[in-house]
Amino acid sequence: MIEAVLTTETSSLSLKAPAKINLFLKVLNRRPDGYHEIESVMLKIALFDILRFSRHGKTISLSCQGSKVSEGPENLVYRAAEAFFSATGKTPGVRIILEKNIPVAAGLGGGSSDAAAVLLGLDRLFGVNLGRDRLLEIGLRLGADVPFFVHDYSSAAATNIGENLEEAGLLHDYWIVLVNPGFALSTKWVYENFPLTSCANPYILARGRNRSNDYHVVSPGLVEEFGNDLEAVSISRYPEIGDIKKELKKAGASAALMSGSGPTVFGLFPGKEEAQYSYELFARKYGKNVFLVRPYIP
Ligand code: ATP
Repeated sequence: MIEAVLTTETSSLSLKAPAKINLFLKVLNRRPDGYHEIESVMLKIALFDILRFSRHGKTISLSCQGSKVSEGPENLVYRAAEAFFSATGKTPGVRIILEKNIPVAAGLGGGSSDAAAVLLGLDRLFGVNLGRDRLLEIGLRLGADVPFFVHDYSSAAATNIGENLEEAGLLHDYWIVLVNPGFALSTKWVYENFPLTSCANPYILARGRNRSNDYHVVSPGLVEEFGNDLEAVSISRYPEIGDIKKELKKAGASAALMSGSGPTVFGLFPGKEEAQYSYELFARKYGKNVFLVRPYIP
């Protein structure tokens, strides 16, 4: 859920865009159009980018703080604003300030969440009221993960290419330590290197029997059992991801897994104390790329 944190006047608005983790991720197939069919449960977490919108001028102007992401059309924020104006026929005229706190290309869905915040924010700022279905449709054209952030679910099971969503059970009692090793991983590269042919892959087919249909309550046991199919690809290039997983488990995590296409690894801790200890341990090594967060309940 994208939550308004400040509304000064109708001509300006601030929203916070949460990150997500994938509590498990299975890659089932590659479609002829190149997209992968997946099965995953995503959980929003309380780590936020902040977006400030104000009606201004006759263009889309974007400035970013906190990270060196593009301020032009390569930025999903810019593209989401273009998509909004094109879908509504409204004359462009907005200044957007993006404060990046979510690590980029980290498997935490930051760009997708920002894009959803833009659609929801501009819809409100311009008083259009497009409705959830229309916003979901525009969001999906921007990226498969965008619809999850348009919805106000805290957690959802995602199927097809990730856009088919069903509200899922929660992990509210857990503390989450995120460890980002500080390098970016391209989602495209990870999927391209996933060992799946467009024909039948015996490894994938064998698992068909073990589909994770019953995940309405996701437990650390299920996180460990289902895992993340993309981990092997990312770990083969960056073994450090595997080391972080092991260290999180050693520090008391009930489950530890790479999120999305990585490289961020999360550990689930039932108690605050162990989570805090583990957070401090990793922060000594990885500095500001380590976070102690809770699930985000919109
Ligand atoms: P996902 O988990 O959805 O695959 P991610 O967290 O791995 O996403 P993002 O942080 O969304 O990755 O960034 C992926 C790519 O998109 C980066 O290469 C980045 O340059 C580009 N990008 C475009 N707009 C944004 C944005 N607003 N925030 C972050 N990255 C952006």
